[in-house]
Amino acid sequence: MARYTGPQCRLCRRETEKLFLKGDRCFTEKCAVERRQYPPGQHGQRRGKLSDYGVQLREKQKVRNSYGVLEKQFRKYFETAERKKGVTGEVLLQLLETRMDNVVYRMGFAPNRNGARQLVRHGHFLVNGKGVDVPSFHVKSGDTVEVRGASRELDMIKDSIARAEQRGIPSWVEMDFPNFKGKVIQVPTREDIQLTAQEQLIVELYSK
Ligand code: SF4
Repeated sequence: MARYTGPQCRLCRRETEKLFLKGDRCFTEKCAVERRQYPPGQHGQRRGKLSDYGVQLREKQKVRNSYGVLEKQFRKYFETAERKKGVTGEVLLQLLETRMDNVVYRMGFAPNRNGARQLVRHGHFLVNGKGVDVPSFHVKSGDTVEVRGASRELDMIKDSIARAEQRGIPSWVEMDFPNFKGKVIQVPTREDIQLTAQEQLIVELYSK
């Protein structure tokens, strides 16, 4: 599956906002957004006021890049959200939030979504006891996610768990860290999703 392979910090700088794409570094003064609070590029400091379309586009890009999803796939998530019951913007975020790579990240098994995606692809996790190596796999309420026995010695996983135990985990998952296991206890509500996004702007953008 194709994915963005350019500099992560540039994506945050483009939105002049932290998207927390790198893990620990994002919480330090080395963060590029902390050091340069203007968009990248030659004219980054001279950009004027955005049009309504520009504001909607930036919001969409921010959410899309936060979850590391390419445009075509993001559009598909939107179309699925439109067909489902509920507020489209919120359903869209729920669909993104319950992707396997994001769940692994939120459970604290990986330092960031990129790391989570890599771990999932390499087959380090079981969902309800069965191997899943597809980062876009949809994890449902009640599902358990577990690190495979042989993968429990990986430094990336062990270090991430140690940090997650300090920082805490979202309320919609329940963790059993000693057994390298987690359970999705409910689909996250909008309040549960730690993302500063105005999802309504994305709905407006795609509804044009
Ligand atoms: Fe974004 Fe993290 Fe880089 Fe800061 S350190 S710019 S939050 S990816």
